[in-house]
Amino acid sequence: MSKRDYYDVLGIDKGASKDEIKKAYRKLARKYHPDVSKEPDAEEKFKEAKEAYEVLSDDTKRAQYDQFGHAGASGQGFGGFGNAQDFGGFGDIFDMFFGGGGRSRDPNAPRQGADLQYTVTLEFEEAIFGKELDITIPREEECSTCHGSGAKPGTTPETCSHCHGSGQLNQEQNTPFGRVVNRRVCHYCNGTGKIVREKCSTCHGDGRVKKSRKIHISIPAGIDEGQQIRVAGKGEDGVNGGPPGDLYVVVRVKPHDYFERDGDHIFCELPLTFTQAALGDEVEVPTVHGKVKLKIPAGTQTGKTFRLRGKGVANVRGRGQGDQHIQVRIVTPTKLTEKQKELLREFNEIGGNDSTEEQDTNFFQRFKKAFKGD
Ligand SMILES: [Zn+2]
Ligand SMILES: [Zn+2]
Repeated sequence: MSKRDYYDVLGIDKGASKDEIKKAYRKLARKYHPDVSKEPDAEEKFKEAKEAYEVLSDDTKRAQYDQFGHAGASGQGFGGFGNAQDFGGFGDIFDMFFGGGGRSRDPNAPRQGADLQYTVTLEFEEAIFGKELDITIPREEECSTCHGSGAKPGTTPETCSHCHGSGQLNQEQNTPFGRVVNRRVCHYCNGTGKIVREKCSTCHGDGRVKKSRKIHISIPAGIDEGQQIRVAGKGEDGVNGGPPGDLYVVVRVKPHDYFERDGDHIFCELPLTFTQAALGDEVEVPTVHGKVKLKIPAGTQTGKTFRLRGKGVANVRGRGQGDQHIQVRIVTPTKLTEKQKELLREFNEIGGNDSTEEQDTNFFQRFKKAFKGD
């Protein structure tokens, strides 16, 4: 798939100011944030806007993009300059123009922790009435022994003398564009900008530890299959004092044996015997809120739907309450005794199947007509 122009993505023109770029991005980020947006391609749009913003908000990257377009990132448009292998692959071309993407960030700058995702499977009723639960998730946290420095308590990490704390080493390289400074991750400090002489024994110098944490989750009543709950700040810990990421709990709902749910409405079938349907009856029907008495009028047909107002699901955003829809299905008896058969034959002979209802009569007449001319 071809990439869209970054200016088009943000809906701004080529001369847009930094302020306009930022505003355009914020607007899109709010619109397409996966936590907020219901649009199916929201995540793609969100990523696309983020990528466009990351390039256009950086003066150097923007200048390179204006000059070379996406070519720097994708390797397209380099036909005239020989083989891409000369640069050691497309990834390096990207690094060269865009400063290595994520890897070239200041290693000492605060960074937000990663978001985590957890899937929880609920029973049908749990989704309708909500649930409180504790989940245990493994997540990366700052080491509490060294407070993230990776150094043995009482010692401090030294600034890497090779990269002077930047985490990067510059390599000059001749390219068709002239001499280009190629930034590489400093291998003396692994890009951290620091050298730990005496490592913390808890985290072995990483400054981070994997820990299983129990987190309490409140699932709101009315949640539905595929919806997610954001638990702010319960993702992985930030780095260098950055904020923690968020935890996204994705909800799956088990199907029910009897009920089906569509949004806030619940649907089910009600089996009735031929005599109940013909003579009428009062029956008890199950709802998720308990049993409800339902009057079946005499002459009820199969397919007839009754609505129990307010017996559906309370809307998760507090917008009203759904209904329960009950569809009648008349069950034809299959195992008849001789006596029952005899009664039914008699019923037929005395004209029991000749409906007196005009509507039914018309239906049977139309049905018979359909065979004429055969
Ligand atoms: Zn270094
Ligand atoms: Zn530690």
